[in-house]
Amino acid sequence: MTVFHLTTNAVCDENQKWFEEFRQKHQCRSCGRLARECRQRGTDVRIMGRPARSALFAVHTAIGIGGWEFLNLFEDEFSRHFVMGHVLNSRAQYIPDLVTFVPHRPILIRSSEPEYRFCAECARFVYSPSAGRSYVLRSSLQEKHVYGLDGSGLIVTREFRQRIEPRRWKSLIIEELPVLDRPLDGIDEFPEDYY
Ligand SMILES: [Zn+2]
Repeated sequence: MTVFHLTTNAVCDENQKWFEEFRQKHQCRSCGRLARECRQRGTDVRIMGRPARSALFAVHTAIGIGGWEFLNLFEDEFSRHFVMGHVLNSRAQYIPDLVTFVPHRPILIRSSEPEYRFCAECARFVYSPSAGRSYVLRSSLQEKHVYGLDGSGLIVTREFRQRIEPRRWKSLIIEELPVLDRPLDGIDEFPEDYY
């Protein structure tokens, strides 16, 4: 069984002042982890310029940005598992076809040679799948078709992958990711509050 990892090479730059304030208020100063309240209610993000049409946008915080037309392919499953917010331009006007998103509970991409530690500042478990073979564990997949990561990355099942026409979304990168029954990193159970 495989799932599909969706990333993008389209970039969206957050407004610098918004970015600094957001990081100070809502991200751990040491590990950059997102504050819990951002997983319960939507966050509005202020950006610079007006990016060209894209499915997803690479961002500099853990708040994902995507095109509403693309995310709508996943219908109400998306709104059930993510909190969403508005994207604003430099004059604080809403950009109607873009949306911010954060999963209630992100999925972890595991690796065979990760780096991990407990953060000295917020005490949460920090896992970086920096090297080795990437995969997801079958036990982390529930009855969903779309899963969120930190930032704009998504993982979708084969069924949802088939809804995406790659020719329509040129900046989208789609990679297969194996689903394994047993971890290759020796960690059987993560702390409950890993995210
Ligand atoms: Zn931390």
